[in-house]
Amino acid sequence: MNVIDGQWLPGSGESFPVLNPATGREVTRYALGTAADVEKAVAAARQAFGSWSRTTPAERSSLLAKLAVELEHRAEELAQVETSQTGKPIRLSSGFDVPGTIDNTAFFAGAARVLEGSAAGEYSPDHTSMIRREPIGVIGSISPWNYPLQMAGWKILPAVAAGNTIVLKPSEITPITSLMFAEAAAAVGLPDGVINIVSGTGADAGSALVSHADVDMVSFTGSTAVGRQVMAACSGRAARVHLELGGKAPFVVFDDADLEAAVHGAVAGALINSGQDCTAATRAYVHVSLIDAFVSGIADLLAGLVMGDPMDPATDIGPLSSKRHRDKVFGMVNAAAQRGAKIISPGGLPGSDHAGWDLAHGFWQLPTLVTNVAQSDPIVQEEIFGPVLTVIPFTTDDEALALANDSPFGLAASAWTSNVHRALRASAELRAGTVWINDHIPIFSEMPHGGYGASGFGKDMSTYALHEYMQIKHVAMDRTGIGRKSWHRTVFGLPPA
Ligand code: NAD
Repeated sequence: MNVIDGQWLPGSGESFPVLNPATGREVTRYALGTAADVEKAVAAARQAFGSWSRTTPAERSSLLAKLAVELEHRAEELAQVETSQTGKPIRLSSGFDVPGTIDNTAFFAGAARVLEGSAAGEYSPDHTSMIRREPIGVIGSISPWNYPLQMAGWKILPAVAAGNTIVLKPSEITPITSLMFAEAAAAVGLPDGVINIVSGTGADAGSALVSHADVDMVSFTGSTAVGRQVMAACSGRAARVHLELGGKAPFVVFDDADLEAAVHGAVAGALINSGQDCTAATRAYVHVSLIDAFVSGIADLLAGLVMGDPMDPATDIGPLSSKRHRDKVFGMVNAAAQRGAKIISPGGLPGSDHAGWDLAHGFWQLPTLVTNVAQSDPIVQEEIFGPVLTVIPFTTDDEALALANDSPFGLAASAWTSNVHRALRASAELRAGTVWINDHIPIFSEMPHGGYGASGFGKDMSTYALHEYMQIKHVAMDRTGIGRKSWHRTVFGLPPA
């Protein structure tokens, strides 16, 4: 299914199922968007760019403010659909994904009106200069399946607030809430062609979008491996590219940390969205004096978690998003066990009799602690994107920070300490786009999100995101009115020697 130029159109590809990951059953079925649909969507976005780029910030702001209210009206339905296509617990959809998207929309409604720039001024005796911030044009965006609605918001909102038009390709396994977002935008009067959605596969619609000659900028959120391909596709035409890629966040517990806070923070930080969160806590480094208490505290909490029907408000942990992904996570844990790692997975998978659901066929993975593992083990070095936390002891602060930074990724990190000097040192030395002190996960619309190193570059959320989607023009105006400028003599017109 696609939204192109304000029209809901079936894709021109084959029929594709959206599965409920809790049961493996079909939620709906749709015709995949293809390269041919991308062609139409990019043409619609180009056509709409002319008038949308000339709207005032106040006009764009007013529409986005209405969109925030409209999303609020649709909040319950959005949360239910998000849960049914991703398997995430309804408490997470209705307490994080949907309100986060509404807040982002309200933020960008305001931010659209506060575009700062240098003051006009004279940088030579003969000229007045000014800076213009201008939209870039047609944006091609690609989003992943873990937070489909939030990712649609993160991509669409700063782009259109800045006066661009967009073609978004959501993940083919979770396209529905991105389409619903576009529907809500149309309902409040965003003009046709400003927001276009093509739901299709990465190999077909995705690669057609990122390599399209008329796409001025590509904004991609997904894995580092695909991000590299996207960057290569953009290099041929030197298109601007913004990459939000994988993560492998360290979680450093110093010996003066509040242990109970760290244990609760680790469980929430590692298990949010079943660990399918690019900033999730994945590598705990714990001072040797606390490690036994830390591991047993977490094991106790894991044993009490409720896994089950994601629509049930009592459910803490849902399944993983697809069978393929579950098998990958399971395989990584098994391989680590074969190399001698200790696997701690208390609790049990939901049975087929849970709430009358056939949960036996869903894509479940037990929350898992991994100890007795080396820093060089693939389970510590590679992104897992599941409910798995490795735990490694350290003895000195230098060692802890070196272990935390021993990763190609750099999206997020946290440090747990009651010592302000340690906190300041960690915030300066941890190499990541976000560092939390005594917490892990919270994000705010006003603050940027983005990576260092293999986690990509460019920022989502905040006014930094708005600036990603604008280009800066220097306008220099002669203020002398003199036809023959003095500087011309450096090029021509010198008298013979
Ligand atoms: P993925 O890279 O497999 O897919 C992401 C998107 O890219 C999907 O829409 C997919 O269809 C598309 N795609 C695949 N091949 C493509 C190609 N050749 N050309 C263009 N598009 C293509 O990632 P995923 O499995 O959907 O999502 C999980 C990954 O996303 C994890 O690595 C996670 O860390 C990352 N992620 C990062 C952030 C962040 O902000 N840094 C946020 C969420 C997820």
